[in-house]
Formats: sequence, structure tokens, C-alpha cells
Amino acid sequence: MIDGYQSCRSRVDPATASAIIDLDAFECNIARLRAHLNELPIMVVVKADGYGHGAVDCARAARNAGAEWLGVATPVEAVRLREAGDSGPLLCWLYGPETELAPAVDADIDITVHSAEQLSTIAAVAATLEKTARVQLKIDTGLSRNGAPADRWPELCLLAREAVDTGAVTVTGIWSHLAAADQPGHPSLAAQQAAFADALQHAETAGLSPAVRHLANSAAAITLPSARYDLARLGIACYGIEPVAGIASGIALEPVMTVRSQLVAVKKITAGSGVSYEHAWIADSDTVVGLVPLGYADGIPWSAGNSAEVTVGGRRCPIRGRVCMDQFVVDLGPEAVDAVGDEVIVFGTDADGVTASDWAEACATIGYEIVARIGSLLTKRIHRSG
Ligand SMILES: *Cc1c(COP(=O)(O)O)cnc(C)c1O
Repeated sequence: MIDGYQSCRSRVDPATASAIIDLDAFECNIARLRAHLNELPIMVVVKADGYGHGAVDCARAARNAGAEWLGVATPVEAVRLREAGDSGPLLCWLYGPETELAPAVDADIDITVHSAEQLSTIAAVAATLEKTARVQLKIDTGLSRNGAPADRWPELCLLAREAVDTGAVTVTGIWSHLAAADQPGHPSLAAQQAAFADALQHAETAGLSPAVRHLANSAAAITLPSARYDLARLGIACYGIEPVAGIASGIALEPVMTVRSQLVAVKKITAGSGVSYEHAWIADSDTVVGLVPLGYADGIPWSAGNSAEVTVGGRRCPIRGRVCMDQFVVDLGPEAVDAVGDEVIVFGTDADGVTASDWAEACATIGYEIVARIGSLLTKRIHRSG
């Protein structure tokens, strides 16, 4: 049953192609993850429009499923969730020196602080608003992305302690992020955990006592219990994509996004016919091909040409030749009786025959990129039972 319909101003007519978002599956995945983690508090990450699944709907569903925290990358994403009615603990972690932080401070959004400069900016915003800003401190334990470098950490902790004492900020958490959580046994995992333990020690010495310490994403939460601390930040697993490619977690995660389209042309071609640009595929025998009205402008990777498969009439049908800007061609087989208007499942659940993980493998990318891109460019239809 469809009870919602969310347009993202897609250029594609939703009758022709859309992303169906199964929020029951999303909530079920979260419940299974919670059980697997023995009811450890979780932060459900809904950045990038909920990995392409719709941030507002996913945020609401995550709270329904008991998520104590939500996480997004940018303050803009966080403020939008507040505008949509979310009022619970909500963390953001990526912004620039010119980003306007007052709306986030005012909305009681937890802002991650990576440097002394950011701390003083936020303290000044808090003073202007006559509020205490909620901040979390991030230490770079080895990803070399964001977070305070280890040699700046003790100073940042001391400055944070001073800002706490003046009432400018409250430090609600300390956290870091792993580089290779999806590669169990990778040597960086032990090194980053040791660096995180050191950082927590420094913070304690500085007199900080944050409510939550957190390090693990989906892959680490599932495969590395020592990295769980007080909170697991769960993204990809909630969307039903196995976080460690090629290794089943055993948690029965159900893909949440199904991308459906339809055939807009069907024709017979003879042996020797070239298909799509450059004739990068040539039929070695007579066959029937179908045209799917989605292309790389809609998030279909160009690298899916001659590699990924879709499902038509319950059969897996390979993409033939190059993916174009707006369309691609599939091989329906010589005996095909499929007609214009018939449904194409681009990817969906195991029962559909092709998943986003299959697409990721065929396109030499990760499932995250498949769903985040395609989902963000198609109209989303929300599916919920009951
Ligand atoms: C995206 C993200 C997560 C979630 O990672 P998954 O691998 O999708 O579980 C957690 N923490 C941070 C900082 C992130 O950017």
C-alpha cells in the first residue's frame, strides 16, 4: 500500500521511473540491528537525503524504531529535520568557515567541533543567542579527514572545558570515525581504537565528562564489539545493504529501496546489430531488446554499460552497450514476449533478483553510491503497510 508520495523535483515522470521506499523494511532493519547490538543506543544516519531514501521520512521512521540519535553531515540538513518536526538528539559534523551556525545552535542541534577556531565561533554564536550550545568534540584517530589532530587534542579539550565553565557550551559527546571498518582485521582498526582511548583519557584529565563516546559505523558496530562504546552510528545497514561487501552479517537486512521503471520501446534485432553508442555491444544472435528511460543523468552509473543487470518479467536481463544520458538498452532474450509498458526492476530485494549490492559489484563501486545517487534523483514513493 502506498500512503505517501514525495517529489524531489525529478525530471523523470514518476509513472516512468521511481524509487519505492519501504519504510517497514527500514524500521525492521533498525529493530534487528538494535537486537544484535543488545539494545545499545544508536544514531541513525540520514545524511544525503537519507542515502537517497528521503531524509524526513527516514528520520521519522528511525525515531519510531527507537533511534535515540539522528546524524547528518551538514547543519543545513539538520535544520531541515528540525523544520520537519524532529526534536530529538541530532548531530551534524561538516561545515565551512562561512557556514551560518546560529540556526543550528538555536535549534539545539549538536555541532561537531574539530578545532579551536570552530569552538570559539560556536561560543560567540551562543553568547549572541544567550544560549548554551551543544557540541561534540571530534578527534582524528587516523582517517586524516576531519577531527582534531592528536597534537591539538589536549589544547582543544582544555578550551572546551573553559567554554563549559563559562556556560557557552555543553560537551555532549566525543567521537571519531574509522577508515577501514568494512575490512575486518585491517591494522588501522587497532591503531584507531588505541588513539581513541588515549583521546578519551585526555578529555577526562581536562575535566570533560561527555554523555556519549562513539566510534563505530554499521560495519564496526556489527563486526567489532570493542568499538561500540556508548552509541553506534548506523547508516548503510539500516537501508538494508550489507556493510561488509561479500560477507553476510547474518542480521537479515532487507533492502529498503526498489527502483522500478518500465520498457518504453521493445524491438527485435538481428545477429550483428550494434547496440547503443560506439556499438560497444554487438548481438551475436537474433534477440529482442528493450529500452529503459533512465540514464547517467538520473544516477545510473555509466560503468553499468555492458555489466549490470535488471529484472524484467522475473528474468535477469543484462544491459547491452553504453548507458546514455537518459536511457539504456537491455537484452530481453530471443523468445521475449515483453511489451512496451512492462515493468523493469532496476534493483530491489533478493526476491526481485537484482540488488543495489549487485549493481555496486557490476559497476566497481559501493552500494552507498548506487542508492544515494539514483534515489536522490528520482521521485520517491513511500511504501508502508497497515
Ligand atoms: C556516514 C557516516 C556514518 C554511517 O556509516 P555507515 O557505514 O553507513 O554505517 C557514521 N559516521 C559518520 C561520521 C558518517 O559520516
